[in-house]
Amino acid sequence: MVTVVGSGVSGLTSAVALRRAGVDAHVVTDRPVDELVSWVAGAIWTIPGVTGEQPMADWALRTREVFAELAADPSTSVRPLLHRSLHRDDPGPIWWESTSWVERRRAPAGYAAELAIRGFVIEPPGYLAWLRRELESLGGTVTMRHVASLDDVRGDVVNATGLGAAQLADDRGLEPIRGQVVVVQAPDVVDGIADESDPGRISYVYPRSDEVVLGGTRQAGVADLAVDPRETERILTDALALEPRLRDAPPVDVRVGLRPGRDRPRVELEHDGERRIVHNYGHAGRGYLLSWGCAEQVRDLLVGARRA
Ligand SMILES: Cc1cc2nc3c(=O)[nH]c(=O)nc-3n(C[C@H](O)[C@H](O)[C@H](O)COP(=O)(O)OP(=O)(O)OC[C@H]3O[C@@H](n4cnc5c(N)ncnc54)[C@H](O)[C@@H]3O)c2cc1C
Repeated sequence: MVTVVGSGVSGLTSAVALRRAGVDAHVVTDRPVDELVSWVAGAIWTIPGVTGEQPMADWALRTREVFAELAADPSTSVRPLLHRSLHRDDPGPIWWESTSWVERRRAPAGYAAELAIRGFVIEPPGYLAWLRRELESLGGTVTMRHVASLDDVRGDVVNATGLGAAQLADDRGLEPIRGQVVVVQAPDVVDGIADESDPGRISYVYPRSDEVVLGGTRQAGVADLAVDPRETERILTDALALEPRLRDAPPVDVRVGLRPGRDRPRVELEHDGERRIVHNYGHAGRGYLLSWGCAEQVRDLLVGARRA
């Protein structure tokens, strides 16, 4: 048996990938799903944030393939999204620009470049519920339990604990990256749009089936989960500048989450005597975007299988 510690997107996807490979995987978590950063996430698949560096690029592209399949089934809560990525300075040629799903367009006034990316929006409440149903249909379970030490878990372990790995894996390289989003109702907004000129002042509009998520913030080293009203105002102002159809959109919620920041995700096999620990944490703002690539690597590290 394999115990997957963590029921966010990293843990659930790992458990599903293992179950599909015939491994008896079960999940434990110390928090309900609606308290996780995985619940708060935007969450879209679009990759300006991923450089061509390996294995990240392969993980992102593999995840795109899976989301393309899942988007054919509405019950997964994954949907295609046209994402308009705006840049005040032309970013120049980018590694993924040669793909069929990215096209340069005439940029609007004030911008030097617009890249139209055919990506995906993942609606976390529905998608995490779908992952759990998928796991359970394959015989897996999700149990509430706090794990004080990985030594307390019998058998092989997948450590998908996000920021919890700072303590469980004694990883000093992890830090919270605070993110705040404002949720509004604006049924007329159908495309995603983001000003990606300045990593310090991110601004985006991500429409879902029943709401629109406006972002955001990326505050490294800040672990405060309280809503910052000044950030709410700034997010609303920046989003309106990007998408005038938001003018009369009433805010319905403000959400805050802590991304598990690390210089790069840790997907790695560790031997602990007879048993194996596979780490899968530290995805920062890319946990969804890399999820299937990382989960299949976890599977391969544990069962040695290669993707067909
Ligand atoms: C505003 C915002 C927007 C974002 N937008 C995007 C986006 O557009 N695209 C994208 O790809 N990503 C996005 N992200 C990032 C994404 O949310 C994270 O990368 C991802 O959710 C991390 O998932 P995880 O499963 O690794 O961690 P988590 O969701 O934090 O899950 C960790 C799990 O481990 C469990 N755990 C921890 N410690 C213990 C313990 N000791 N015992 C038992 N259980 C334990 C927790 O209970 C939880 O179940 C965004 C994040 C924010 C905040």
